[in-house]
Amino acid sequence: MKSYDAVISGAGPAGCSAALSLARKGHRVLLLDKARFPREKICGDGVTASSVLLLEEMGVMELLRQRPESLNAFRGATFVSPGGMVVQGRIMQNGNMKGSSYIIPRTALDDCLVSRVKDHASITFLDNTNVTGLILEGDCARSVTTSAGDFSGRVVIAADGAYSPIARQLNLLNRNKNQQGFAMRAWFSDVDGLTDSIELCYDKVMLPGYGWIFPAGKQRANVGVFLLSRFTDQRTLKRLFERFVNEYDYASAKLKNAVMEPGTLKSWPLPFGSFPGRRGHGNILLAGDAGSFVDPITGEGIYYALKSGQYAAEAIAQVLKRNDEAAVLTRYEELWRGEFSTRVYLPGYAFQHFMNNSWFVETFMRYTAKKQSRADLLADVVAHNRKRRDLFKLLNPFHKVY
Ligand SMILES: Cc1cc2nc3c(=O)[nH]c(=O)nc-3n(C[C@H](O)[C@H](O)[C@H](O)COP(=O)(O)OP(=O)(O)OC[C@H]3O[C@@H](n4cnc5c(N)ncnc54)[C@H](O)[C@@H]3O)c2cc1C
Repeated sequence: MKSYDAVISGAGPAGCSAALSLARKGHRVLLLDKARFPREKICGDGVTASSVLLLEEMGVMELLRQRPESLNAFRGATFVSPGGMVVQGRIMQNGNMKGSSYIIPRTALDDCLVSRVKDHASITFLDNTNVTGLILEGDCARSVTTSAGDFSGRVVIAADGAYSPIARQLNLLNRNKNQQGFAMRAWFSDVDGLTDSIELCYDKVMLPGYGWIFPAGKQRANVGVFLLSRFTDQRTLKRLFERFVNEYDYASAKLKNAVMEPGTLKSWPLPFGSFPGRRGHGNILLAGDAGSFVDPITGEGIYYALKSGQYAAEAIAQVLKRNDEAAVLTRYEELWRGEFSTRVYLPGYAFQHFMNNSWFVETFMRYTAKKQSRADLLADVVAHNRKRRDLFKLLNPFHKVY
């Protein structure tokens, strides 16, 4: 049995990011995915400024630029309040992250990620290979079992999404209802009135979730609803999607002449980041949705998948250098917690409670609408072009936000 420095299950954003980071540090990697690429991933396809910066470093944006039809830049965010007020913010080029934001169909994005992986001599990529579990020896994985045989690595990364078979075997799948979101989306053609802004509608029956219309090319849009299981019964997802598309004033007017593309209406869970619980066991690390890293207020997951993949690679590279695989999880925990815990998850969960109150959301939006600079700041934060803590600047009425 050939042995690798790392075996990675799942070649989405988390798995590809981890594989590329490890390969750049000179490690031999085996990357496995059950799908054949290009493959679909149910998503809103919103790729924020901070994700774009990571994709740029990985050489993926260069490949995407060769497929211009897949790159739909958005330069603004439109917010619709529970009472129907429309607030238009622009995404500024002087945001902290200085990136552009795009709607990129996941079929194209993930195909380009995999293309970059295939370019790398020290990564072996096997698609059409279903990972079924691990053979454990004490606390450590001795090998990864798959439909193509068993493979062993000094370290294993589970980056195989919200239903990760590895996380399930280790009893580490996040099943806490308070830390789950669900979303349903479909593609629509012949959509009238699309601009270069993403549209987020805070219908009071979905709060603190929202409905979205994301422009993705000529009269085409990714349309969906995002709910938080803690506040809204997940079984109402389809009903709320239909209400959004057919009855909610703002969206139904826009989608009046639009056609839902057949077979595109699908739903999938979003496992939110949290504080308790370790993201792994022994020499096994969980990255991306397998490790539950999604932003609990916006539902953004691509950035956290890419970044947790990088942190997993960094932790692995550090411990392999000193032949100390047993320390990999501790190092990984330090890295991801350092960036995400208090900056993303703590304010995210706190904000959920405010956003669950339609009076608060209405008042906040009315206040934001009073100055263009406030609306721009909100758009920048949602596009992950500025840090979330910058929102506090909104609370000071005399502060000039730019
Ligand atoms: C409807 C919806 C809308 C969303 N919108 C956005 C958005 O606009 N912007 C954003 O940033 N995030 C969004 N998200 C979240 C985002 O899609 C995820 O957080 C992100 O895809 C996580 O990446 P990942 O690499 O961890 O997992 P995935 O992208 O799920 O990739 C996992 C990979 O593992 C493979 N795999 C699974 N099981 C096995 C197995 N047994 N063996 C081998 N391989 C396996 C799969 O084939 C897949 O390639 C949305 C999510 C949903 C559900």
